[in-house]
Amino acid sequence: MNPLSKLLNQQIRYNGPMSISQFMEICLLHPKYGYYTNSSPFGQKGDFVTAPEVSQMFGELIGLFLAQAWSDQKNLEEAVLVELGPGRGTLTADIMRVTKSIKNFPKKIYLLEVSAKLKLLQKSNLEGYQVEWIKNLNQIPPGPIILIANEFFDSLPINQYLKGADGWHERLIGIKNGELAFGISEQKLNIQSTEYFTHAVKGDIVEVRPSVEPIITEISNKISQWGGISLIIDYGCWDLKGNTFQAIKSHKYINPLEKPGEVDLTAHVDFSSLARSVLNCSISKLTDQGVLLERLGISERANILSRSLKADDLENHIAAHRRLTHPNEMGTLFKVMAILPKLSRMPLGL
Ligand code: SAH
Repeated sequence: MNPLSKLLNQQIRYNGPMSISQFMEICLLHPKYGYYTNSSPFGQKGDFVTAPEVSQMFGELIGLFLAQAWSDQKNLEEAVLVELGPGRGTLTADIMRVTKSIKNFPKKIYLLEVSAKLKLLQKSNLEGYQVEWIKNLNQIPPGPIILIANEFFDSLPINQYLKGADGWHERLIGIKNGELAFGISEQKLNIQSTEYFTHAVKGDIVEVRPSVEPIITEISNKISQWGGISLIIDYGCWDLKGNTFQAIKSHKYINPLEKPGEVDLTAHVDFSSLARSVLNCSISKLTDQGVLLERLGISERANILSRSLKADDLENHIAAHRRLTHPNEMGTLFKVMAILPKLSRMPLGL
């Protein structure tokens, strides 16, 4: 049993079973033992690889897409670039590099990041740029925002509800035979009837991510008042169903209750619930990452880059292109949704 398992055990013995969101928050953010406090999760040696870490092509195409979308708005205000959960800072660095000569593209960057360790990496990867770290979106000054969130929402804590014969119960984490184990709340819950709660049948599990609504409300307030665009990229789908709570360690799925604090805990993103929180703005169609990147010209860009590559570097480059776009890799699992001012023309690619 690792130190965080012991701590969770004690806490549950003292307070009773905890919700999955409490468990995720402790495992990811505990100041001493939390995953984001201690780990260097990215890359082949880490636990997972994100799209900007697969190839520079991802950030370059997203950067040009954002620049085009922003210039289409013909907004004369100065915009700022915002990234939620920037990881190593690679995506923002690629976006800034590719848009360097575009006059009206933001020069000021705001990063929302919880991990002190990752903040240091971001600082070094974004040296030379005007960067400010924020704890909350309301720290961004008034004005248009160009916001990007890649694999951010999946890391925000979820709660799960199970439909039993007698109604809804919350799935909780308790202790069984001395080990952390899933169970359900004894009490029946009075759950507000959104569409998928009412359509559920006995045995269904529904996931809810409580922190999504305040974040999306803040983003839509800014965009509806000042203009801009928000691009959300994550794995998930529209009208997500079932249990998607997962743990990844060294590129493999493991039981989320094993090795607390040593594994990345996430759940798929329900884009329909994100969309329901959007106020006074337009949203794009939910588009596959592979489709968007192809529409933005990834194959042409890949060809150009391949001309200067040989042997292993060329093989890796071809594999990266496939990884970002192929339906069996990140191409269809990852989806893209944009939030724009009401009645805007949808940007090219979405
Ligand atoms: N966008 C990056 C990293 C994705 S991993 C990429 O594509 O490579 C998730 C990121 O979100 C990490 O940087 C993590 O530290 C950050 N994060 C997770 N929960 C957060 C929270 N509650 N507030 C701010 N950042 C958070």
